[in-house]
Amino acid sequence: MADVHMGSESETFAFQAEINQLLSLIINTFYSNKEIFLRELISNASDALDKIRFEGLTDKSKLDAQPELFIRIIPDKANKTLSIVDSGVGMTKADLVNNLGTIARSGTKEFMEALQAGADVSMIGQFGVGFYSAYLVAEKVIVTTKHNDDEQYIWESQAGGSFIVTRDLGGEPLGRGTKITLFLKEDQLEYLEERRIKDLVKKHSEFISYPIYLWTEKTTEKEVSDDEDEETNKEEEGDVEEKVKEVSHEWQLINKQKPIWLRKPEEITNEEYAAFYKSITNDWEDHLAVKHFSVEGQLEFKAILFVPRRAPFDLYDTRKKLNNIKLYVKRVFIMDNCEELIPEYMSFVKGVVDSDDLPLNISREMLQQNKILKVIQKNLVKKCIEMFFEIAENKDDYKKFYDAFSKNIKLGIHEDSQNRAKLADLYYSTKSGDKMTSLKDYVTRMKEGQKDIYYITGESKKAVENSPFLERLKKKGYEVLFMVDAIDEYAVGQLKEYDGKKLVSATKEGLKLDEESEDEKKKREERRKILGDKVEKVVVSDRIVDSPCCLKTMEINPDNGIMEELRKRAEVDKNDKSVKDLVLLLYETALLTSGFSLDDPNTFAGRIHRMLKLGLSIDEDEIAVDDVDMPSLEEETNEESKMEEVD
Ligand code: ADP
Ligand code: MG
Repeated sequence: MADVHMGSESETFAFQAEINQLLSLIINTFYSNKEIFLRELISNASDALDKIRFEGLTDKSKLDAQPELFIRIIPDKANKTLSIVDSGVGMTKADLVNNLGTIARSGTKEFMEALQAGADVSMIGQFGVGFYSAYLVAEKVIVTTKHNDDEQYIWESQAGGSFIVTRDLGGEPLGRGTKITLFLKEDQLEYLEERRIKDLVKKHSEFISYPIYLWTEKTTEKEVSDDEDEETNKEEEGDVEEKVKEVSHEWQLINKQKPIWLRKPEEITNEEYAAFYKSITNDWEDHLAVKHFSVEGQLEFKAILFVPRRAPFDLYDTRKKLNNIKLYVKRVFIMDNCEELIPEYMSFVKGVVDSDDLPLNISREMLQQNKILKVIQKNLVKKCIEMFFEIAENKDDYKKFYDAFSKNIKLGIHEDSQNRAKLADLYYSTKSGDKMTSLKDYVTRMKEGQKDIYYITGESKKAVENSPFLERLKKKGYEVLFMVDAIDEYAVGQLKEYDGKKLVSATKEGLKLDEESEDEKKKREERRKILGDKVEKVVVSDRIVDSPCCLKTMEINPDNGIMEELRKRAEVDKNDKSVKDLVLLLYETALLTSGFSLDDPNTFAGRIHRMLKLGLSIDEDEIAVDDVDMPSLEEETNEESKMEEVD
């Protein structure tokens, strides 16, 4: 791919196809939000500084070439360039070629699709292609870089399909780090203005933990008298004094670097949390929830945890290591995505942890066995779960949370046996109304004599809340939890009991609510006898109260008026057609309310229409009675047995 054209030290490379497309898109599409380029470049500088600082912890000599860690911004009005310099890790020649043009990140394509779907260009950082945002404002970009393991190199491109990499022989030596020089487009010169740059850094890069210096120009006017002998001329009026403009430059520190997690939570505004959240995640939206706390005592650490508003596009991409919790030791950044700090199922939680107990020179290998980290993790998980509960206090927020991360929570229920009950602990119920409730709260509301925790599973709150299976429970005042998410059903399978109480399905056959008295028992058996003579394979229900019957096996409610009346009529005339019709209707209605579908809805409709006509007192002879398919009760009950088998 390389084609040597400018002497042996210069090579031209073609941009990888998708990167090329992305560049065209960035250059040729109008985006109003161009200013984010600076945030992206500063963020890259900060990442590079993190890397070298970390390397320096175990090998001090890595810092020798440039011991100071900084970011510098240099606007040059004469040349219309803006440069961002960092003393970070730098890039080798191979890094330059790979990272800036020939190897596309998985996010390249996703970002283009997102853009075409109307996403904002400011989302670029999340997709791992933030560097290319330089072309929002620059027609040409030059990257000069020096890595400890290589010589100084220059990368240069005006987009247009290719970039050139040259060994930097004559340039000013960086020592170590990277300088990005943007040749600004004519209509983007505002980014040379001091005020604009300062505001941008304040807005988007306030929480960068390295000093950001701006090369500022200061013009002072000095009065210089033309006479050397000041003493004699001092009092003479009208003496011509010359004003001389003196231009001086200085590095002005333009960010505060006090880490936000060291400040008191009550003194931090939500805007500040949001700005910090965005700075560590590249997210363009505010966080959904935040938890800022410190743990003191034997173990001391401070942490800020965030839940994003939505899942990142690559949340379930197992190839990509998630950048979730940043680990600091005594204020010093140690590493991104410290896996030991948080279990995998919580990898969507973002934040920082700053420990006072870990050694500064801790390595990834040491982390794996570290006991302190295990304790920190336990604390973080606890706090995360607290945060999820806080989210659940707001219905809309909880829906967002649920839509985005329910898969993760499900994974947690599966993997985290210690926290299983807590993770699976948010439900609607027959008593919770619009709010959700927890198993813990449920237990406090249990009625005297109630032994078990009842639940009903189904597709939605709507689908289960009027289920006939709930009637008897409701009548007794027993609360029933609605397990209407795939996760709930799964959780209940894993959970089985809570606080020593069994979780029992309201749809369970032969559901016993409590011990029945001898009297009740007698009465029940009596009824079973009466009906049992007439109909085969029918169970007298313990679960339903208001409905005449419901289905799984056919269960009927002997106390229901309809049942009583049907029984009476059947006793008078075994072959009463309208009784048969009504029984079939009951059966079909039970099918529907129990969640089955009808084999023949038209016949059902026909029956309903006949009933309607009866109800409206429309003449009997106007009713076309179709005798055709009216199976006998025996046939019907056979059908039920079939159902049962399927069930
Ligand atoms: P990301 O920052 O998400 O990795 P970018 O497109 O912003 O994506 O940067 C691409 C890569 O280029 C970085 O991962 C890094 O390897 C390299 N890079 C960019 N800027 C610098 C820099 N200032 N110093 C060292 N490496 C850099
Ligand atoms: Mg970046």
